[in-house]
Order: sequence, then C-alpha cells, then structure tokens
Amino acid sequence: MIIVMGREVTDGQVGTVVNKLESAGLKANISRGIERTVIGAIGDESRLDADMFTSLPGVESAMHIAKQYKIVSRESHKENTIVDIAGLKLGGNQIQIIAGPCSVETQEQMDLAAQFTHEAGCRLMRGGAFKPRTSPYAFQGKGVEGLDMFRKAASRYKLPIVTELMDVRQIDAFLEYDVDVIQIGTRNMQNFDLLKEVGRLNKPVILKRGMSATISEWLMSAEYIAAGGNHNIIFCERGIRTFETAYRNVLDVTAIPMLKKETHLPVIVDPSHAGGKAWMVAALSQAAIAAGADGLLVEMHPSPCDAWCDADQALTPEELKKLMVTMGAIAGAVGRTL
Ligand code: PEP
Ligand code: MN
Repeated sequence: MIIVMGREVTDGQVGTVVNKLESAGLKANISRGIERTVIGAIGDESRLDADMFTSLPGVESAMHIAKQYKIVSRESHKENTIVDIAGLKLGGNQIQIIAGPCSVETQEQMDLAAQFTHEAGCRLMRGGAFKPRTSPYAFQGKGVEGLDMFRKAASRYKLPIVTELMDVRQIDAFLEYDVDVIQIGTRNMQNFDLLKEVGRLNKPVILKRGMSATISEWLMSAEYIAAGGNHNIIFCERGIRTFETAYRNVLDVTAIPMLKKETHLPVIVDPSHAGGKAWMVAALSQAAIAAGADGLLVEMHPSPCDAWCDADQALTPEELKKLMVTMGAIAGAVGRTL
C-alpha cells in the first residue's frame, strides 16, 4: 500500500502514519519529494484497508498496490488450470458446451432434454431446480424433486449435471444427488456466506458474473471460494446491465481476454442470458469462442414455446445441433477442439 500525504504535511502527521503501519506489523518507507511525501508500506498489506489511513490528518490518499486476489490470480499460478468434472476436462484444449433447459419442469421434459443434449454432442447438461425469479409469484423451480428428475435423466446418457445453488440449506440435497457442478447465479455472486460454504466443498463451481459486477469484484468473489480450499472455479460471463434496453444484457466479450490475463481459471460464456433471444445465441457463441472462452452454457428446451421459464432464449434441439457444427469450425480456427 502507498500512502500519499498532503502538501502541508507535518513530521507529526508522518509519524502517526508510520506508527499505525508499525503497529500492524509492517515497515514504512518514507520518500520525501519536493511537493509530496509518499509512505510505502513494506510487508503483508492484506490486513490494511485504505480507510485506516485516509481518515488520519495530513493523508491525501491511500491505495493498495498488490492485488487483493491471490489464489485465483495468474501471478500465483502461471499455467491454465484445467477443472476436472467427473473425468471431463474444462479449461484445456477441448471446448465444452453445456446445454439444457433453463429450469427442470417434468421428468419427460428432462428425459427429452438429456437425449437431445447428448445427440447434439454436448458432454454436460444444465438445468435449474432452484430458480432465482424476479417475481415471487413466478415459478420458483421444482426444488429437490427437480434434482431427482435431473439426475435420473442425465444419468442415462452419463452427462454430468450443472445446477444452481441459491442457499446453504440446499447443500445437503446437492451432495445427496451428487450434483457435478454447482452454479452460483448472477444474483448471488456477492453472497459471501454462500461463497464461503461452497469454498469448503470438493465440487467444481461455475461462478456467474453479477449483472453489475466489475472484473475485480468478480475475481474477489472467486477468491472467497478459493480461500476456503476449493480451487475448482469456472468463471461464466452472462452479460452485464448497461443503458441499452434492446436486448436482455450486454455480452461483455472484453471480459474474456481480461480474465484470461488476470486468472489461470477457465472462462465460459452464457450467450442465452446475455442476449435473451434464441436468434442471438449463435452470433454471441461464435464471438465467445473466437475470443478465447473455454466453453458455453446454453439454454435448450425440447419445445421452447412450452418452456416454463426463459422460453424466448431457448434453442430448439435442431438449433443446438447446428450450433455445435459452427462451434466445431470456430474451435478449429482458434486451434482448439470441440
Ligand atoms: C440460469 O443460468 O438459469 C440463470 C438464472 O442465470 P443468471 O444467474 O445468469 O441470471
Ligand atoms: Mn434461464
């Protein structure tokens, strides 16, 4: 951390800052310039907060220079991390497309969805049993019964399952049904107690980006999970909220190379919640894989017009098959496989 003192600083004020640093176990390096005195903190600054200093007399500003996220940062781990999901690799050369309905509805719908996911060539399946809905009166998901339907349908095709965890009270059921990947939704990206609990589990986690979260906040949320010991984290860009109202969210393609630079963990993209329309999914998926994403999380429903949730953005089974062909070509163009 560096602490910049104001123009009229006194020796006493510098001394107060130095004492505060020393009582926190750090050393101070005082650099007196013609106009400004700058104090550098030497040692472990993770316990320091800028506010501890900005409130002191004579201090103009204080800022961290070391990154607040450590385990997830590429500085701490140069190689790409490959997350193992029931033997499948995510984050390696092979692109993974995770497909399935927004929500688990019926056994028949899930059986068909699993069949179509498998037939399209996807190796993982998604589906929400617990749904975070904007309205409390909208369908809230089938809950534990939904996990049961999902597990039965996916097991027939040996598809690992990805489903959203909304509350710590659901963890026992997730373990009972052996959910392969826990999804933390956009609305829970900063639910720190939930992140801490997931950090204690030995299960891969897809961490979606909060709809108004900065890259740094997103990385810090991942650090919460990692700090608990669970390093199997996959970032999922799902579109952010901006001034634009013509589509559901804005897919932040720029986040892909940025995250790839900042973290060693895999990055996937959800083109369905980004655009909010089925007809946009192919274009956004192409952009995502071309920009370096390691996979996609795509909504597909056996009969989109009958979907209980997010009907507008669900691909038909046929559209998913077509998307897989296009993804194969894009993957090849960027030196990867599908
Ligand atoms: C979902 O994937 O079903 C979902 C609710 O997405 P998000 O958290 O990105 O809105
Ligand atoms: Mn959805």
